[in-house]
Amino acid sequence: MKKITLLGATGSIGIQTLDVIRNHPDKFKLYAIAFGQNVEHALSIINEFNPKRIVVKNAATKQKLESLINQHHIYIGNEGMIDISVDPETDILVNAVMGSVGLEATLQAIRAKKQIAIANKETLVTAGHLIMSEAKKHKVDLLPVDSEHSAIFQCLNGERRADVSQIILTASGGSFRDKTRAELADVTITDALNHPNWSMGAKITVDSATMMNKGLEVIEAHWLFDVPYNQIDVVLHKESVIHSMVEFSDRSVMAQLGTPDMRVPIQYALTYPMRLDLPQTKKLNLIEIGKLHFSKMDFERFPCLRLAFEAGRVGGTMTTVLNAANEIAVDLFLQGKISFLEIETLIERALDQHKVLNNPELKTIIEVDKQTRKLVESYID
Ligand code: NDP
Ligand code: MG
Repeated sequence: MKKITLLGATGSIGIQTLDVIRNHPDKFKLYAIAFGQNVEHALSIINEFNPKRIVVKNAATKQKLESLINQHHIYIGNEGMIDISVDPETDILVNAVMGSVGLEATLQAIRAKKQIAIANKETLVTAGHLIMSEAKKHKVDLLPVDSEHSAIFQCLNGERRADVSQIILTASGGSFRDKTRAELADVTITDALNHPNWSMGAKITVDSATMMNKGLEVIEAHWLFDVPYNQIDVVLHKESVIHSMVEFSDRSVMAQLGTPDMRVPIQYALTYPMRLDLPQTKKLNLIEIGKLHFSKMDFERFPCLRLAFEAGRVGGTMTTVLNAANEIAVDLFLQGKISFLEIETLIERALDQHKVLNNPELKTIIEVDKQTRKLVESYID
């Protein structure tokens, strides 16, 4: 029986992780949860799974929850998330919070030698060098939950890194894949949140529409698999059936396929190196699908992907700025304060203004993250 600590329990990945736990009560037990502010949803999780420890985002949420349950130990914020992540009873940490708020808990859990299932890509984008060097030092497996990275991880099983010639990430194209740039000028929040293949949290759904999600995934792949940017490619593949591929030096290409269902990579990250059945997931039926489509990625149509490659190549604090500027810009869009195309404008402006610091320590990353958020907010004042 593995005890799981789940950061972001009330989110899209959190809910699907709970489904995996629910389906295998003999294998997994929910030990602790962290969530932001959705008390109502958290309450149903607490009633069903009875986690021993609970962390919420702030004091107001703690107060609200305390008035509804008889649990005296509800903790708050970053400190709380770190605490439950390194708790001696935690076997596996699932990091499924949205944004770079998951960074410190992940770092500390690595130092405490926990098995880590990482959905939270922002953590790797903002501080990949710190996470990976700590993981190496403490011999901790970082098991990817992101479907593309889970695919690559599976394709690399038993292979030598030196034999990898290319990592090929597939991209569905998001909600606006068939629109021209001119047509993007007045798209609405509702349009952006309508993803054709996946049902996900609001931020990542917008990231998919701007293609920043793929940009963040390029940086995530760079860190997780230790491959240089010139060996990472992105192709449009609208069906989301091939989750990603690896090409080897002998031109052999390995791919991982499946119905788009996040429970598959989530469960694999929890059971690795074993597998368990997942009868709820629809079997892949290639005959029914008939055709798979691939096309070249257009960097002019999707400038966020170009910005991510550029920031990744510069490295240092540039990816911290990319991530923080994107988090704020997407939030401003979701609040109706800026248009869809302004997302990329604000990010590019923040990147242009930044003087990169190489090999930053945690303290520097936290500071640059904070300053960038302020800066991007000031652009619309
Ligand atoms: P959601 O927005 O659905 O969920 C985010 C979760 O994080 C919620 O539980 C939210 O709590 C919690 N949260 C937000 N801020 C805080 C905070 N300050 N402290 C504690 N908890 C907080 O996001 P997703 O599940 O879609 O995505 C989560 C991560 O997984 C992201 O990094 C995303 O890129 C990645 N990912 C997601 C995929 C998907 O299919 N959804 C696929 C691949 C990767 P609350 O709502 O209660 O405020
Ligand atoms: Mg993905």
